[in-house]
Amino acid sequence: MTHTLIRNADHLVTMDAGRRELRGADLRLRDGVVAEIGAGLPLDGAETLDASGCLVTPGLVNTHHHLFQTLTRAVPAAQDALLFGWLRALYPIWARMGPEHMRASARLGLAELALSGCTMSSDHLYLFPNGARLEDTIEAASEIGLRFHPTRGAMSIGESAGGLPPDSLVEREAAILADCERVVDAFHDPSDGAMVRVGLAPCSPFSVSRELMRDAAILAREKGVRLHTHLAENDEDVAYSLAQFGCRPGQYAEELGWTGDDVWHAHCVKLDGKEIDLFARTRTGVAHCPCSNCRLGSGIAPVRAMRDAGVPVGLGVDGSASNDAGDLVGEARTAMLLQRVARGADAMSAREALEVATLGGAGVLGRADCGALEVGRRADVAVWDLSGLDAAGSWDPVALLLAGPRRVRDLLVEGRRVVADGQLATADAREVAAEANRLARGLANGE
Ligand SMILES: [Zn+2]
Repeated sequence: MTHTLIRNADHLVTMDAGRRELRGADLRLRDGVVAEIGAGLPLDGAETLDASGCLVTPGLVNTHHHLFQTLTRAVPAAQDALLFGWLRALYPIWARMGPEHMRASARLGLAELALSGCTMSSDHLYLFPNGARLEDTIEAASEIGLRFHPTRGAMSIGESAGGLPPDSLVEREAAILADCERVVDAFHDPSDGAMVRVGLAPCSPFSVSRELMRDAAILAREKGVRLHTHLAENDEDVAYSLAQFGCRPGQYAEELGWTGDDVWHAHCVKLDGKEIDLFARTRTGVAHCPCSNCRLGSGIAPVRAMRDAGVPVGLGVDGSASNDAGDLVGEARTAMLLQRVARGADAMSAREALEVATLGGAGVLGRADCGALEVGRRADVAVWDLSGLDAAGSWDPVALLLAGPRRVRDLLVEGRRVVADGQLATADAREVAAEANRLARGLANGE
């Protein structure tokens, strides 16, 4: 089993109940959990990791992604479109993917996230063309070494039935539910310290039926797994809800069983005050994806109001077709900046944004065993080197999002090293990138 002593961290952010920040601290990680925190801890046979000159934080948590999209970054036809037009440009390309693409894109996306401080990521895979399956991404996560919450997404209303996706990308609802059950039974691990937990995630109210939303919620509760989808992403999305369902997205979600502390919704840019109250009252979570919201011109999510009301909020990079980057520490910085654009410089501090990125995300994914560095929680740790140009001159190293490195020096998940000395330790980064490039070129050539 693993035993590592992180020694002499200049600054250590615990995110514990007292939000303690320690100086000159050691952190003992044993058998996948935080075993001890203090100064001058004995070696006790541990492997050591010197953190002098470093900031140590809990690993960052990504609550929304579509890893398959890392093979469709910066596609010209989708660069400047709003959500619905953007989707129409990309669907035909995604329809050419298969299992190999799912694995390669997940390896790339997760490796990139790891370098930006992420130790746990969810994924929302909602199309399964040409034999692709959820386990293609689970295998990739196991190789890269991140804690992984894949969700079995789905689309069932194609163009011919008034939906947005082409008919070739939608599945029959009975087949969707059967596969949901299969992947939960095969891969979901409810135990403490689980490396894989599966959720159910019909893609969005505009790509599945009311019945599938309802049935997915019933199945998720039977199985004890979480529910995830997109909600109230932009004005078009709200207009669709009003026109098709005769109500706002929050009411639609509530009527179909899509509120509760086992549900989290991506975006929620356009939630109104009543919907924010509903989410707070029911402890329904939100995956805030600031860069994607900027990239698609969706607007600024009311995160300040959500947090003040008590809505659980985590961060998401969203898919790389609407963000292009999977840079989670950068995402936290953008979250902080956007609230300031909307409400002034005191709207969100760097520490609060870091809290949303760690503890907040872990809460949204239902992981009380992650998100903070305190004894008994899982050993998911990011080590940031403060000796470089990007942090030089800083008066407050903990304000990582105001002045600090954009890449980790070391990253440990369940006490195991995923990034070491700034390099991916679990796979050859050049090989991961080369494989992704080869497959992306194939997609561009119509293969
Ligand atoms: Zn999304």
